[in-house]
Amino acid sequence: MIEITLPDGAIKKVSEGTTPMEIAKSISEGLARNVIAAKFNDTVVETVTPLSQDGTLTLYTWNNTEGKHAFWHSSSHVLAQALEELYPGIKLTIGPAIENGFYYDVDFGDHTISEKDFPNIEKKALEIARGKHDYKMRSVSKSDALSYYKSQDNQYKVELIENLEDGTITFCDHSSFTDLCRGGHIPNTGIIKAFKILSVAGAYWRGDENNKQLTRVYGISFPKQKELTEYLELLEEAKKRDHRKLGKELELFTFSQKVGQGLPLWLPKGAALRDRLEQFLKKAQKKAGYEMVVTPHIGQKELYVTSGHYAKYGEDSFQPIHTPKDDEEFLLKPMNCPHHCEIYNSSPYSYKDLPKRYAEFGTVYRYEQSGELHGLTRVRGFTQDDAHIFCTSDQLNEEFKNVIDLSLYVLNSLGFENFTAQVSVRDLDKPEKYIGEPENWERAEQAIINAAEEKGLDFVIEPGEAAFYGPKLDFMVKDALGRQWQLGTIQVDYNLPERFDLTYKGSDNELHRPVMIHRAPFGSLERFVAILLEHTGGNFPLWLIPDQAIVLPVSEKHEKYAQKVLNSLENHEIRALIDNRNETVGKKIREAEMKKIPFMLIVGEQEEASETISVRRHGGEDFGAISIRKFSDLVATEINSTLKSF
Ligand SMILES: [Zn+2]
Ligand SMILES: [Zn+2]
Repeated sequence: MIEITLPDGAIKKVSEGTTPMEIAKSISEGLARNVIAAKFNDTVVETVTPLSQDGTLTLYTWNNTEGKHAFWHSSSHVLAQALEELYPGIKLTIGPAIENGFYYDVDFGDHTISEKDFPNIEKKALEIARGKHDYKMRSVSKSDALSYYKSQDNQYKVELIENLEDGTITFCDHSSFTDLCRGGHIPNTGIIKAFKILSVAGAYWRGDENNKQLTRVYGISFPKQKELTEYLELLEEAKKRDHRKLGKELELFTFSQKVGQGLPLWLPKGAALRDRLEQFLKKAQKKAGYEMVVTPHIGQKELYVTSGHYAKYGEDSFQPIHTPKDDEEFLLKPMNCPHHCEIYNSSPYSYKDLPKRYAEFGTVYRYEQSGELHGLTRVRGFTQDDAHIFCTSDQLNEEFKNVIDLSLYVLNSLGFENFTAQVSVRDLDKPEKYIGEPENWERAEQAIINAAEEKGLDFVIEPGEAAFYGPKLDFMVKDALGRQWQLGTIQVDYNLPERFDLTYKGSDNELHRPVMIHRAPFGSLERFVAILLEHTGGNFPLWLIPDQAIVLPVSEKHEKYAQKVLNSLENHEIRALIDNRNETVGKKIREAEMKKIPFMLIVGEQEEASETISVRRHGGEDFGAISIRKFSDLVATEINSTLKSF
């Protein structure tokens, strides 16, 4: 008999050779029907692997990330078989599961495949899936594995096998198909009920552009047709909300090849939007005791050698700037922290002066590979809503709670309701990885965990995820399409105070090191605006949106009254514009809808006579004819409901 421990701590005594699926059955038939993958002692196993020793078993269903991974990994085998049957002679290379679905990199020889081939491949794959073939793992010797693929003239698999150790090589068979594979499959192909080829793209063998270019076939599969339909709808919606597309339509930002890749240019509406975000945060930060500072965009190379950033960014990022003077080198700043450390160092402090909280909208520059650049989410120059707090370790918990409050205020004011937090702490088994005293780490980790608990955050603790210089807390936000983004990091740092020799005089009259906290609730303004665009689809909260209203005169006759309305709106501090074109009101409304302007104010004969405006909300809601004062109250009420004071 062997003892199998389940995640809830329950122990099952079973005979040697019992499989994970049999254990699932012994718990309940319902569970067994849903189990599609298993892990035994931290190793992925098949659901039919006989267990031969004591250990911990975790069973996965489609609802777990691990379950989906096994499902998509297994589906990539089905894709490979379908491709091989449809296009005999092709050479398969690798086909992993990815975050959403899977792909297979294939050498199609002279053949090219395109979108018109997708339905055929899908049909073939589903046909194979319906055969309910079991996935069967078997060990093969290195020489047998090599001769199998040599006989197929597949130099890619041969190369993969040559790098494997004899005795560790396994094949997976299902139906008439065999693939080199480490394992981790669903019980059989019959569970795959929906199958879709999403796209094809070029990919170099082993990611090296000196190698042959292969065709990467992307696919996704589901246990239910309905889930595929929902996924495709989500993809469609994500395309509509792509921040690069919306940024253009809403005239927020642009890029210029002349200025350079990855260097966004903010247009007037976008710049005004940024400014509103900055003012919003500045106001809250002032209440929270921050002081604004300003530092230059460059610094001497030595500054970043001291901070350690040169080691991290120096070689792989923008190269030093030289001056007419020999041996003088400057770097574009990759981080604001070193500058803020030198601000701290500009005067002596006693413990009574702490905490010091320095905030700056600091623009930093990092060289990202051109292939990594993506709209506003990956750029080469961006502005962080940065701040550094210098405090004593006794103040850590309080400061952390204050930063959590500020971060929550930011998320709530911008319509992010769905978020969790992750606390990253040390790996206690690897103390050599971290700098600073273990007692300090212990205190800092406890301070963060206590702060998160006291603030009622929904959080998980991730051992081993801390940076070498300190533990941290990250906010993970789910957007309207259910995608997860990391926003707002709060990071404790023992490293920079040491490197910059930061001190304060304690109550004992001795010099002590302050603790440093880095924090940025937005992260960067560029990335934040991108996420906000995709989350809201461009329908920003009313307090933030560039144009809150548009006045639409029914005809030329009412232009004068329309102008009067516009002036009056300005007096009420409502951002509005006017559409004076000689077009029908219907057309003007349609275009205002496209521009996502929240309120359309229609003025004609009746409105002019009664000194009112007919108010129509973006999306169609009709408020009828009301006075400007009443409209202004309506706007104020909506703004106050989202933008509470801090
Ligand atoms: Zn496999
Ligand atoms: Zn920093």
